[in-house]
Amino acid sequence: MSERTLTVNGRRYAWPKAPVVVVCIDGSEPAYMEEAMKAGMMPWLSRALPHGTKRLADCVVPSFTNPNNLSIVTGAPPSVHGICGNYFYDREAGTEIMMNDPKYLRAGTILAAFADAGAKLAVVTAKDKLRKLLGKGMKGICFSAEKANETTMAEHGIDDALAFVGLKLPSVYSAGLSEFVFAAGVKLMHRDRPDIMYLSTTDYIQHKHAPGTAVANDFYRMMDHYWAQLDAAGATVVLTADHGMNAKHGPDGKPQILFLQTLLDGWLGKDVARVILPITDPYVAHHGALGSFATAYLPEGEDVTAVAVRLAKLPEVELALTRAEAAFRFELPQDRIGDIVVVSKKAFVIGTSADRHDLSGLDAPLRSHGGVSEQKVPLYCNRKASSLPVDAKLRNFSAFDLALNYAEPAIAGAARRAVG
Ligand SMILES: [Zn+2]
Repeated sequence: MSERTLTVNGRRYAWPKAPVVVVCIDGSEPAYMEEAMKAGMMPWLSRALPHGTKRLADCVVPSFTNPNNLSIVTGAPPSVHGICGNYFYDREAGTEIMMNDPKYLRAGTILAAFADAGAKLAVVTAKDKLRKLLGKGMKGICFSAEKANETTMAEHGIDDALAFVGLKLPSVYSAGLSEFVFAAGVKLMHRDRPDIMYLSTTDYIQHKHAPGTAVANDFYRMMDHYWAQLDAAGATVVLTADHGMNAKHGPDGKPQILFLQTLLDGWLGKDVARVILPITDPYVAHHGALGSFATAYLPEGEDVTAVAVRLAKLPEVELALTRAEAAFRFELPQDRIGDIVVVSKKAFVIGTSADRHDLSGLDAPLRSHGGVSEQKVPLYCNRKASSLPVDAKLRNFSAFDLALNYAEPAIAGAARRAVG
């Protein structure tokens, strides 16, 4: 029997046999779910995983939100879809360009392709900055929790999502912003039974609270409660993350920062190099625009390799690569990264200069991401995937591949009861 399939960005996907929900839990270092399950806070997941799939996968580096969300929905690395951070530098114009606009997306999404082929689609994100990128070219429902009060049928596929979900509009810096995403997902599942749903949260909690802490466990218990309801509705649920999250401070609680612009100013002369921090976005209070990945543009004629070699020797630096090396190793678009890519070690972040980071919003010791130290993420499913090789090197952007091509039909009675 031939199966209906769609090919998107060179990968083949089977038509969903049951509703598919892919969840991107922002900043979900694997230890968060491990610790919450150990503490008995995730009863549904604890019961579902023995009947399902529990793997680890590598996310995209830079281990930032947008590159990874776009990789998940395109099933492809940034070298294909073009989104490798929140900013790139236009050397000719001498300006930093924000990559939130869908025009910078170079590949179609799995979501848009299935919608075009007649599938019913729903996408809910926490922050509005991701909505337009994820929903590019997609027919169906697509809105953010942040602006749920502004939705219209014409633009978002749903009028007044706020009233539909029935919760208060959450603050952009709150656990409630992510809870809204799941509350919306459950309501949409019950009302519309979408063929494919993509739900994406924000890492506000993970930036402040380590795995196993009371606040983190509460957050995961909240999510578990909603996932149980999606599971009870018969959905194939895949859980993954855009990136992990690590402490970036010393024993004194102070952030450990390599100020790269200041350093290169000292080596090469003031403002000769231009450092770009692609984590920078309009919502920086919880991380002060400090992550473990930076790129630097050097003037023509500068010995790039020599600078990279010198940077690689610094105690804070995990990797310093030339553009070509970084593009090859991390599958990045060469035209949107600098001459040098610098990745810091696990307990460090990279800044520009001390005066350009407002750390006044940091009310907890810094936790952040961006490097290879945040590359391991969960790839879980409430269904078995027996034909997925045990030694397969998995990426988080195989989430739809797992859900559509490998996840097996539900076993009657197994982990199908809703919790609470
Ligand atoms: Zn993120």
